[in-house]
Amino acid sequence: MVNKNVDYVVDIAGTTHEGNGVGKIDGFTVFVEGALPEEKVKIKIVKVNKSFAHGKLIEILNPSPNRATPFCPIFKKCGGCTLQHMTYEEQLSFKTRVVKDTLERIGKCKSITVHDAIGMDEPYNYRNKVQFPVGTEKDSPVIGFYSKRSHRIVETPVCKIQHEIADSIREKIKELIIKYELTTYNEETGIGLVRHLTIRSSKKSDQVLVVFVINGKALPNSKEIANELVEAFPQISSITVNINQEKTNVILGDRNINIYGTDKITDYIEDLSFQISPLSFFQVNPVQTEVLYRKALEYAALTGTETVFDLYCGIGTITIFLAKKAKKVYGVEVVRSAIADAKQNAINNGINNIDFFAGEAEKVIPILYGDGISADVVVVDPPRKGCEEKLLDTLVKMAPKRIVYVSCNPSTLARDVNYLEARGFVATEVQPVDMFPWTAHVETVLLLEQKN
Ligand code: SAH
Repeated sequence: MVNKNVDYVVDIAGTTHEGNGVGKIDGFTVFVEGALPEEKVKIKIVKVNKSFAHGKLIEILNPSPNRATPFCPIFKKCGGCTLQHMTYEEQLSFKTRVVKDTLERIGKCKSITVHDAIGMDEPYNYRNKVQFPVGTEKDSPVIGFYSKRSHRIVETPVCKIQHEIADSIREKIKELIIKYELTTYNEETGIGLVRHLTIRSSKKSDQVLVVFVINGKALPNSKEIANELVEAFPQISSITVNINQEKTNVILGDRNINIYGTDKITDYIEDLSFQISPLSFFQVNPVQTEVLYRKALEYAALTGTETVFDLYCGIGTITIFLAKKAKKVYGVEVVRSAIADAKQNAINNGINNIDFFAGEAEKVIPILYGDGISADVVVVDPPRKGCEEKLLDTLVKMAPKRIVYVSCNPSTLARDVNYLEARGFVATEVQPVDMFPWTAHVETVLLLEQKN
C-alpha cells in the first residue's frame, strides 16, 4: 500500500499500452506518466486505488538511454502526442511489444510471428488531416488542440506532425474570425458559431480542403472569407461549411454547404487517384498507408482468380488495390457518401471488377452469403470497436482461405482473432505499421489462414 501526497523512489519496469511507466513500491503497482522502463524516478503519489496508484513524476534520477527531449513546446499540455519523451526507435519497439503482448494475453495466439513495427524515415509533418477545436480564451479566439484530459484548448505556433500548411491556414482563419467578428462555440453553454476547423491536404496533388464546422445555418461573410483564404493559399481547392447544431462531442454534422470550389479533394496512393469528400474516412498518414496496403496485398496473396471481400472499405482504397490482382471484389461500407466516392474512384482508375454496397458489413455479408456469393479472401478494416460476431460467424461458415485483418486497435483485434482461432482459423503473421508517430496509437495488418 502507498500513501497519497507522499514522495517515493521507484524503479520503472515496463509500460502500459498508453506508454506510461509502470513500477512497484513494496509489491504495489504504480503508474507514472512520462517515466520510461529502466529509469529510477522520484514520484509523488496523486491517486490511490484498491490495487494500483498513480504517481506524478518529480525527478528522473537516472534517465533511460531511450529518453528524448520533446520537440513540441506544448508537449506536456497538449492531449495530442504522448510519446515525445521516447526516441523514435523506442516508440517502434514499444508498439511491437504492445501488439505481441495483446495477441498473447487476449488473443491467446500461439503460432503467430510478430514482425517489428515498420517506422517512417522522416516521422514529421505526416498527417493529412487536422481537426482543430475553436474557442475563446481571455476574449480572443483560440484554435488549437484539446489539452490532456480536458476540453481546454491549447495553441502551439507549429505542430510538427501536421502537414506544414495547416498552421498557416489556422493563423489566417483566426485573423478572419476577428476581422468578421465571428463568435466561437462554447461547449458548456452551447452558444457561439465556429466550433471546429478541419483541414485536409494532399502533398501529391497539392490540394487543400477546408471545413468550417458551425453551430448555425450559415457562415456570415462566407464569400469574403473564401476569397481572402484562397488569395492567401492558392492550394485551397475546396471550402465547405459543415452544420452541426447538436450539443455533442461528435465533430461533424451531416449537412455540408460548399462555399468555394468542388466539395472534394484528390489524393494519390501509389499510382491510384482517390477523391475524398469532407465526411469520408481516409487514412491520415499517406506515406505509411502505402506500406500498410502493400502488406495487406502481400498477405492476400492473390493470383487473379479469386473473389475477394473488402469490408469497411471507406472510399474504396484497399478495394481498388485488391481489384487489380483479383477476379472480382465486393466492397462494403456504412457511410453512403464514401460509397459514392468509392464507385467514382473505381471508374477514375479504370477498374470494373468491383461491386460496392452501402450498409453495415454484419448485415450485408450474411445476405450476400445467403445469395450464394462467397469469398476466397476477405479483408476487414473495422473501426476501433472491431467486428461484430454476426459478421465473424458468417466468415466462419464461408471459410475463406485467408482473412487479412487491418486494425487500429490491438485489443479488439486480439478479441476477434481469438474468436476466429477457436473456429477453424489460425493467425500466422502480424505486421505493425507506424501510422501515428509520437502517439501511442498502433496500426497492424494480420494474416489468418484456414487450419486445413
Ligand atoms: N479500409 C478503408 C477504411 C477503414 S476505416 C481505408 O483504409 O481507408 C473504417 C471504415 O469502416 C470507415 O469508413 C467507417 O465508416 C466504416 N464502418 C464503420 N462501421 C461499419 C460497419 N458496421 N459496416 C461497414 N462499414 C463500417
